[in-house]
Amino acid sequence: MSISTLDRDALGSLLSEQRTAYEDLRARGLTLDLTRGKPSPEQLDLSQALLALPGEGDFRAADGTDTRNYGGLEGLVELREIFSDLLGIPVPQLLAQGSSSLTLMHDTLVWAMLHGFASSPRPWAAEEKVRFVCPVPGYDRHFALLESLGIEMVPVAMNEDGPDAEAVAALVADDPTIKGMWLVPAYANPTGGVTSPEVAARLMAMPAAAPDFRLFWDNAYAVHHLTTDETKSTDVLSLASAGGHPDRVVVFASTSKITFAGAGVALFGSSPANIAWFKSHLKFASIGPDKVNQLRHVRLFGDAEGVRALMRRHRDLLAPKFTIVDEVLTSRLAAYDVATWTRPLGGYFVNLDVVDGTAARVVELAKAVGVALTPAGASFPYGADPRDRNIRIAPSFPSLDDLRAAMDALATCVLLAAAEKSLA
Ligand code: PLP
Repeated sequence: MSISTLDRDALGSLLSEQRTAYEDLRARGLTLDLTRGKPSPEQLDLSQALLALPGEGDFRAADGTDTRNYGGLEGLVELREIFSDLLGIPVPQLLAQGSSSLTLMHDTLVWAMLHGFASSPRPWAAEEKVRFVCPVPGYDRHFALLESLGIEMVPVAMNEDGPDAEAVAALVADDPTIKGMWLVPAYANPTGGVTSPEVAARLMAMPAAAPDFRLFWDNAYAVHHLTTDETKSTDVLSLASAGGHPDRVVVFASTSKITFAGAGVALFGSSPANIAWFKSHLKFASIGPDKVNQLRHVRLFGDAEGVRALMRRHRDLLAPKFTIVDEVLTSRLAAYDVATWTRPLGGYFVNLDVVDGTAARVVELAKAVGVALTPAGASFPYGADPRDRNIRIAPSFPSLDDLRAAMDALATCVLLAAAEKSLA
């Protein structure tokens, strides 16, 4: 019973049915929020012990450093060791810093604009034009950051196995204005796709016209598995060296969705040359990161296995939410052929594509009955989804009951907008 096969009478009945369901929703006075990928309070409780760590009297790092004092620009070695294991990056090439990886991405870009990388002919800001390849749909804050710096965005398709590598290779091959690219390699925001080692190898080996082309490898969801199929982080630094471009990739990660969002530890990994470059600018911005915070994380985790165990407890809380999303969408929408959505094996999001030309209408309808959704188009550069069909669902924060109610309301809005469009 695909909506496209319904005659006008059947469409009319569908429309009035969904209008009634929609008026019922309005009467319920919902206030539900599916906008941002925040951990739920129950997830934050998993790291509650942090609030009492490292504890009075516990302030010395493994090498005897007094973490209460200045210094140690690279971050605590024992924390870098834990993430070296999890991210597949040698300890000397991995820095532990403040609480936000987005800040590290921002700083890297600002330093590239002001100073350029070691291989840059001139600072990026002195170029006539700087452009970035942006797999779409992607992370809205990546795009907003580029926009704030005047860096133009060139979209390419994000597939299940990563970005369309052939399209990227063709773009960067002879356009020196393309200086970089975003990529969330494992459990992409918002598709949940995982970049395959083959695609990663191609991106690391492809010739680039810009001598300082950089791939911003944002591994925000590296250990955020939703099933027992735990995708291992790709050793992208080795792939970069093997591809003949050891300085091509800069890696970011954080514990924002492992411990406390906004009060965790962010990580920066890259080649020895890029680490030296990063530190040469960082040293003017900081005398050293918050080592007390890093120490309490070390005490909480113990080792890499401690992080994996904690993430399994996150999974136990998160996986049922992703199941609800899929269940409601399947039971309400599958028969009508009005939407497709992802079933991610990790990360924080479900990518929902509705009937072309109706995403903004769906978001507006949902808002009017008290269900807040990320603005339509947010996952595209400049907020412009050329097909107006994409909606990002963030199921982590609401309770199971609220999530089910919100998804049911969303499904009604998707059907209503689709019926309206078919009859227009
Ligand atoms: N990168 C991606 C892909 C994200 O989805 C998010 C948060 O949603 C971040 C980075 C933010 O990371 P942080 O909290 O470390 O700044």
